[in-house]
Amino acid sequence: MTNGRRMVSVLGSTGSIGVNTLDVIARHPRRFEVFALAANSSVDAMLAQCLACEPRYAVMMEEVAAESLRRQLPATSSTEVLQGEAGLFHVVTAPQVDVVMAAIVGAAGLPSTLAAARAGKTLLLANKESLVMGGHLLMQAVRESGARLLPIDSEHNAIFQCMPVDGVATPSLKGVSKVLLTASGGPFRNWSIAQMRGATPDQACAHPNWSMGRKISVDSASLMNKGLEFIEACWIFDLAPDLVDVVVHPQSIIHSMVQYRDGSVMAQMGNPDMRTPIAYGLGWPDRLASGVAPLDLVATARLDFEAPDEQRFPCLRLAREAVTAGGTAMAVCNAANEIAVAAFLDQQIRFTDIPVVIEHTLEQVSIVEPTTLSVVEAADAEARDLASGFLAEVNNHVSPVNKI
Ligand code: NAD
Ligand code: MG
Repeated sequence: MTNGRRMVSVLGSTGSIGVNTLDVIARHPRRFEVFALAANSSVDAMLAQCLACEPRYAVMMEEVAAESLRRQLPATSSTEVLQGEAGLFHVVTAPQVDVVMAAIVGAAGLPSTLAAARAGKTLLLANKESLVMGGHLLMQAVRESGARLLPIDSEHNAIFQCMPVDGVATPSLKGVSKVLLTASGGPFRNWSIAQMRGATPDQACAHPNWSMGRKISVDSASLMNKGLEFIEACWIFDLAPDLVDVVVHPQSIIHSMVQYRDGSVMAQMGNPDMRTPIAYGLGWPDRLASGVAPLDLVATARLDFEAPDEQRFPCLRLAREAVTAGGTAMAVCNAANEIAVAAFLDQQIRFTDIPVVIEHTLEQVSIVEPTTLSVVEAADAEARDLASGFLAEVNNHVSPVNKI
């Protein structure tokens, strides 16, 4: 904290969540100061962000990108460029840092997210994959260090807002009977399996309500995003899987709900704009202006609900089975999904092959207890090898029109 301002490190600053986070921060210059920005390789975007926010540090994961950024920053800049995991570790654990926005995409976010939790920071968690992989470790780190975890994923942020005010630990003891996780259904909500077989990456990324990075957009189309969020909800709110129901709500106005034993259902509503949960996390327990337009219920006119179809969207079933299997099954499910999504975006497999790759990988591995970060990373690496091997085998032996 300097001059009463909270110091924030934004990991994944050039991505969709990162850009929205900087938008909210820029609206409150007296409350927040950007300590560090971190991204993978997008130098141009990072340079522009450094010039606008003047962070103490900018971290680039790739060496070439770090060098290029160093060269392009003006000599007068006070930003120091760091590189790689060591740089990331420094900007999440530095004593000056109050808040870490964890918005790296995928498993790559786990070590830095865990380091922020272990350092006792206020952890704004967008990187759901880190919780899916290492939920046990992450929640333990939060408990032991006294870190505060505030969920940024819109559904979990909504659940957090609807939970009893006196804390979210062991919700069933506070009269909570169910958590209702809403899903938009994604761009293929009404598509047949045959139609989805021919879906292109651009069609999968054309989400009807949200503008997001490509990986999470494909996950939303396959409903794996809801599967990952199902696991995420179990970890954050300490819920048994049978206490979480998924409800398809195509308008994405209700971001999730909590049902109580007296029949009450609390819902959090708002326009689908990530700046609302980001502002909630940054300001908590205060409410900050976020730039999000007020909800116009008359223009919205109707809110629809339907049950999810696990025949057409098997990823949801696979994620539920992984949480029930426990241990490293969730890390395996996540890793196989990341490989399959990358292959789909690269047009190596069809959209409908994504669950096939995940199921095949889950069948091949043995599940162990995720006691340390290395155990989780080993399970992640094994699953990536198996999923990639499966894809290579299929590509070598079967005609491209009928691959899996
Ligand atoms: P994105 O693809 O738009 O951005 C990803 C960011 O991570 C970029 O800044 C990129 O440079 C950085 N990055 C990628 N690989 C990295 C690596 N190996 N090391 C360090 N940085 C790396 O993704 P996004 O849509 O902003 O999503 C980020 C995370 O937030 C994901 O876990 C996603 O599931 C979650 N999330 C996103 C949304 C959304 O609306 N976009 C909503 C809820 C949750
Ligand atoms: Mg979400």
